[in-house]
Amino acid sequence: MSTTTEPPYDVVDPATEQVLATVEMSGVAETDAAVAVAVRAFETWRSVAPADRARLLRRFADQVDAHLEELAQLEVAGAGHTINNARWEAGNVRDVLTYYSAAPERLFGRQIPVAGGVDITFKEPLGVVGVIVPWNFPMPIAGWGLAPALAAGNTVVLKPAEYTPLTALRLGELALDAGLPPGVLTILPGRGAVVGERLVQHPDVRKIVFTGSTGVGKGVMRGCADQVKRVTLELGGKSSNIIFDDCDLEQAAASAPSAVFDNAGQDCCARSRILVQRNVYDRFLELLEPVVKGFRVEDPRSESAQMGPLISRRQWQTVSSYVPDDAPVAFRGTAPQGPGFWFAPTVLTPDVGDRAFTDEIFGPVVSVVPFDDEADAVRLANSGPYGLSGSLWTRDIGRALRVSRAVEAGNLSVNSHSSVRYSTPFGGFKQSGLGRELGPDALDSFTDVKNVFLSTEG
Ligand code: NAD
Repeated sequence: MSTTTEPPYDVVDPATEQVLATVEMSGVAETDAAVAVAVRAFETWRSVAPADRARLLRRFADQVDAHLEELAQLEVAGAGHTINNARWEAGNVRDVLTYYSAAPERLFGRQIPVAGGVDITFKEPLGVVGVIVPWNFPMPIAGWGLAPALAAGNTVVLKPAEYTPLTALRLGELALDAGLPPGVLTILPGRGAVVGERLVQHPDVRKIVFTGSTGVGKGVMRGCADQVKRVTLELGGKSSNIIFDDCDLEQAAASAPSAVFDNAGQDCCARSRILVQRNVYDRFLELLEPVVKGFRVEDPRSESAQMGPLISRRQWQTVSSYVPDDAPVAFRGTAPQGPGFWFAPTVLTPDVGDRAFTDEIFGPVVSVVPFDDEADAVRLANSGPYGLSGSLWTRDIGRALRVSRAVEAGNLSVNSHSSVRYSTPFGGFKQSGLGRELGPDALDSFTDVKNVFLSTEG
């Protein structure tokens, strides 16, 4: 029987606006209880033999793999992701678990030469880690927090976003089926201002992994400061796709739409500013137009869908506010009519002072703006508070490296749009975040270094 005083939450399919499930929302008391269980579980989990902890994480990965299609379908229904994206996302959870399952047996300290004895360092787990997840990539972002945290010997209390708790809840069940002891991973649906804030404030939560908006992230950081709590922040972005005149313009134009419209633009790495060298600007727009108009916005369950709906009516209203009647629309794609939070891919040619060029819209709206030379491109790319990702297109390798070094962003790709690989670091410069996830070094964010000196002289 439910004890929470929080009203339950209706999860809505964004493609149909039908209620899919009603989820109980935890309150402060349930959060405190979950943290208490995680504190107890930590005492045993941290001392599970490294090879056994590794084996349990691999079994968890196997469970995810065995339920990949189910998880993917659940994400399509609950978040409106296209089925092909959702399969990739469930596969990413499996891969991240597999990658970090190698960590327990490789969490090396050091032996440091000192006089009079032996000095060794240990990477100690922190304790209970709170992972706060946004709605735009519910599965991967959960995996990026929980997998390295568990591998390093911590226990995890994970709060999914209000809109999208279903796949996280299923992952919690699969962890138990894999044999992870109860309390090692707890999924706690709840409101940000209730469960999220309590995790930040709770003295037994030793670290927060927060992914979400920059505004909320700043509050999380302030809350963590009170207890000098460790915190990783992955926040907003307004990334640039820089097109130089010497690049393969056809390929750059063919790939630009999916670099911003993927996941209906609700992607912190969306290349929502396309900066084009002035002498190829008109040609680039000519090449871009048919690709945008042909972008398949349709039922996300369809195998051919390239884009589904926005997550909610509220998000639809926010995105729409960037395309008023007098907006400088170059051209638009199409979207289904009827129920669902559909928004057609939209290409704007605004001034660089326009809020469409400066704000993170988090929807399928892209600004295309000309630049004169390399310095101008870098200046435009670096304008604003964000620095998460970006792309640049050129055949000149010297320029590729110069511009990659000059753009203030954590994840850049040349002649492609890749941002995320589980084996390489991911995170933001400036107000896009703090710390890095994924890759070989993420474990450092889930451990504290302990130095021990053993005297050999007594
Ligand atoms: P959000 O900040 O509203 O919410 C994120 C999470 O924080 C949710 O689980 C929410 O319930 C919780 N939350 C809300 N208020 C809280 C509070 N006061 N204390 C603690 N937790 C609280 O963000 P969103 O709208 O869910 O996600 C979209 C944002 O996330 C975008 O800005 C996007 O760029 C960003 N994002 C960043 C990355 C990245 O890796 N840099 C990845 C995905 C999304």
